Amino acid sequence: ALLDKFEKYDLLFGPSPISKFENLAKTLGGKVNIYAKREDRNSGLAFAGNKLRKFEYIVPDILAGDYTHIVSIGGIQSNQTLMIVATACKLGLKAVTVQENWVPIPEAEKATYDKVGNIEAARIMGGDVRLVPDGFDIGMRKSFDDALSELKEQGYKPYPVPAGCSEHKYGGLGFVGFADEVIQQEKELGIKFDKIVVCCVTGSTAAGIFVGMAQYGREKDVIAIDASGKPENTFEQTLRIINHTSELIGLNKKFDSFNLDSRFGGPVYGIPNEGTIEAIKLLGSTEGTLTDPVYEGKSMQGLIQLVREDAFEEGSNILYVHLGGASSLSAYQSYFS
Ligand code: PLP
Repeated sequence: ALLDKFEKYDLLFGPSPISKFENLAKTLGGKVNIYAKREDRNSGLAFAGNKLRKFEYIVPDILAGDYTHIVSIGGIQSNQTLMIVATACKLGLKAVTVQENWVPIPEAEKATYDKVGNIEAARIMGGDVRLVPDGFDIGMRKSFDDALSELKEQGYKPYPVPAGCSEHKYGGLGFVGFADEVIQQEKELGIKFDKIVVCCVTGSTAAGIFVGMAQYGREKDVIAIDASGKPENTFEQTLRIINHTSELIGLNKKFDSFNLDSRFGGPVYGIPNEGTIEAIKLLGSTEGTLTDPVYEGKSMQGLIQLVREDAFEEGSNILYVHLGGASSLSAYQSYFS
């Protein structure tokens, strides 16, 4: 595989399992088969999730450089920063995480939003969690640069991992490996996944899967569901990562588009809409599987809507990518009380 030339540090249990959502498929009319690849159960570190697959190709760069700290950034309930803290613990390094005010926190959650869920877990693991009032943006940030400069002035050597790893040069590699794994699992299961549905915000997850599938001429099978509420930015950044990663692994194909469904990201990043809550409850009550209101609730909403509007051929096999994130649910209790 094209990935073999890159160094990898194992953080996952192995290939992530695939489960079948038979009850959900039946509830939606039995028109398609729905499978889920469980990145939410891919590791024993903290709450697992998509970030670890990305980190596997970034950690060797960190270990090679004598760094003292890993610095990253996200929202208050960020999965990225939580998993950076967990990974730093495992590596024996320190983590500094900049947690910005990316979400217009509902009144009913204000008392607990910065105390429960992912940020609680980061604090338990000894993370140096820094709350900053700046708003949502998936690009490079001033608060992030400030944290890095401060550590350098104190004589430390910090390693920067940008939001969602997406602006990192190796950020897309992990999910190229995900695609290789899917191809292998198709052989083992004796089926072909006709479409892959995946949540997309900072872009390196969907970009990696897209490039990975492009190795097999199947990039058109990937449907990204925007959960950023700013789909123009997400499209532009994801396409950039697609082309960068394609060149990096030596696929050397240039792409000018990918499939991003922008209907489900609203009202804004981090806040669910009515359909998101319906999707979370439907998956929960049919399959006993949890998704969060920020990411997978929206991609599950997208999957459900695509089935309902007959966007998939009858009898096709749909692979939903569950990227994790349910650990933030306690910061959204008012939607389920
Ligand atoms: N799902 C979860 C649980 C996440 O934490 C993220 C991170 O942003 C995503 C989906 C979106 O992935 P990406 O940022 O690579 O587009």
